[in-house]
Amino acid sequence: MDNKPVVKLISKPNNLLKTIYTACRTCYSADSPINIYESTDDEEKMLKLINKVISSGHYSTIEHIQVSFAISNVSRACTHQLVRHRHMSFSQKSQRYVKEKGQFDYIIPPTIEKNPELKAKFEEFMGEISKKYLEFTEAGIPAEDARFVLPNATASSMVASLNLRELIHLANLRLCSRAQYEIRMLTKAMCEAITDEEPWLKNYLVPKCVSLGYCDEAKSCGRMPKKEDFLAIKI
Ligand SMILES: Cc1cc2nc3c(=O)[nH]c(=O)nc-3n(C[C@H](O)[C@H](O)[C@H](O)COP(=O)(O)OP(=O)(O)OC[C@H]3O[C@@H](n4cnc5c(N)ncnc54)[C@H](O)[C@@H]3O)c2cc1C
Repeated sequence: MDNKPVVKLISKPNNLLKTIYTACRTCYSADSPINIYESTDDEEKMLKLINKVISSGHYSTIEHIQVSFAISNVSRACTHQLVRHRHMSFSQKSQRYVKEKGQFDYIIPPTIEKNPELKAKFEEFMGEISKKYLEFTEAGIPAEDARFVLPNATASSMVASLNLRELIHLANLRLCSRAQYEIRMLTKAMCEAITDEEPWLKNYLVPKCVSLGYCDEAKSCGRMPKKEDFLAIKI
């Protein structure tokens, strides 16, 4: 298997636009939310209001939409970063209940993958770790303890769910070129999976510099002006 995250959008409400539209209109209308919900199916009209409301930072309106992704072929190094996002929900393959039976699956970073000599060393080392893990489990050590020898490279899988506000936040942070390559690839795949079905979200699922108009990172990739330069121009 190659080293790319495998991602599928497995759950999204059918009435996504209508739900957000109803949340937005309810804030500014004397009409009841039920009447608002039943009053329109006009996508263009709904999107016009939704874009206006989200662009003005009224993000609670998109917290009503929860989406779920099935994710596999990512390293534990990557999932450890993803689970730092506190408004997400996770169900991850357990290293206690799922005992490795042979060579465990692992992810090779591209910097090592492209160097044949280092790649061979990396694979040899994964083989040694695997042998040690099996030695322990065959000696009766439970998987929950034998896993202590497994590396960050160990492949994992999970179902991850989050609302649209958190997805935008995740994209802002993890599509940034300063984010680690694998979580950047994973976030990109998650964003593409949802924008395939909801293309209007492309404007929001962007690195933070695109929505801010400037870069606030200490080391900038140069895509946008540095924050201090941007603010100096504005003043
Ligand atoms: C490029 C990069 C490098 C990183 N390097 C490191 C590192 O070296 N070490 C490290 O430990 N972590 C590191 N992180 C992880 C980072 O510190 C955050 O833990 C992670 O990005 C989750 O971001 P968050 O807290 O904004 O998001 P979430 O947990 O998704 O929360 C979303 C937002 O909700 C609000 N929120 C959530 N919980 C609280 C709370 N308890 N109180 C107040 N507001 C809250 C905040 O506004 C927050 O931005 C790095 C992240 C990035 C993107």
